[in-house]
Amino acid sequence: MANENTLTLIYTIGYLFFALCLIAPPTEFVSAGLTIQNVMSNYLGSEEFNFIYYHIKRSTITLLVHSLFPLGYYIGLGFFAPHLQLLTPWKTGSLWQIYLGLSCVCIIISSILAFWWTKKKFNKHPIAQQLELLGNGDSWRAVAASINIEFRRVDKFTTGTHGRRVIVTDSWVMKTSTYFVYVAHQNDIHLTLSKAEEHDTSYESLTAVQYLNFTVQGINPKLQPFTIRLNAFEFRDLKDKLSSPVRNARNIVIKQSLSDQFLEAFRQHISSNTVFRLPQGMEADTCIGCMQKESDVKLVKLCDNVEEGECVQCYCRPMWCLECMGKWFASRQDQTRPESWLGSKAPCPTCRATFCVLDVCKIAN
Ligand SMILES: [Zn+2]
Ligand SMILES: [Zn+2]
Ligand SMILES: [Zn+2]
Repeated sequence: MANENTLTLIYTIGYLFFALCLIAPPTEFVSAGLTIQNVMSNYLGSEEFNFIYYHIKRSTITLLVHSLFPLGYYIGLGFFAPHLQLLTPWKTGSLWQIYLGLSCVCIIISSILAFWWTKKKFNKHPIAQQLELLGNGDSWRAVAASINIEFRRVDKFTTGTHGRRVIVTDSWVMKTSTYFVYVAHQNDIHLTLSKAEEHDTSYESLTAVQYLNFTVQGINPKLQPFTIRLNAFEFRDLKDKLSSPVRNARNIVIKQSLSDQFLEAFRQHISSNTVFRLPQGMEADTCIGCMQKESDVKLVKLCDNVEEGECVQCYCRPMWCLECMGKWFASRQDQTRPESWLGSKAPCPTCRATFCVLDVCKIAN
């Protein structure tokens, strides 16, 4: 008897583990392709091309597959522990009969729900209903088309694990979850930094990390608010993609990434250097690093290093913006000793003349 109980326990733990791996697949499962999405990829189509339809189908299938778990457990246990007589339900205990009944009810309800959702080409699906609310009179398909187009762009912001992804496009903020995709329009939301969590070691990088939680609250009260969670280092990228400001009512201090911290120190140092005036008739070009900002720094040897291997005058015309110059400078340093960076040197990205932080001048307008 004791032996049979142990077997039942082992089976139960194994089954729970298996079910959990399907509900929230660990990285190993995802890379091995053992997810519902992968197995059903033919039916689901391409997420890249048809984001909304993909997730409508994915959530429906997921619901159906998950509803099979209780019955799957029962049948498996029937083979594993024959003494319980589960495969002959009329002979087994009444508790197991109730369990079997509930498992079947679970499948029936999910099937009815899934069938209801698929009616009229998914018009009744919760995601479609949500888009209908966002459409302000337009059909949900029009909203879906606009989201699909923006999702195909390469410059969207994405973060998060498989199944819980945050996506920010030019006009939409979205989060995927097991049975739903939360969608909000950038113009109609209040984004609030609600919580920060510090973790000493991260699974990925083994250094202290800070996670930020944001609440996305739509102006339309019928839309469900949702939270998005990301590493503090990604905050800058998120902010670049958002058109409205992030509220930080609780004044949470956001940790910056090393390169952001360095850029700030770099900028501060350079603001105390002498400014460089462009000669008459000369105009600043676009920075050749980012192709976006105007070049606004010039390397002029100002420090008093004269020894061999020390700073030399650079004769290049201004071609870089301060951020790109700062990033270049940081990339040439010993990455394990960030405290030494500001006191070190780097070659000019164009002519290789050595310079230090004292030799970088802001260009005066
Ligand atoms: Zn630049
Ligand atoms: Zn140069
Ligand atoms: Zn120097």
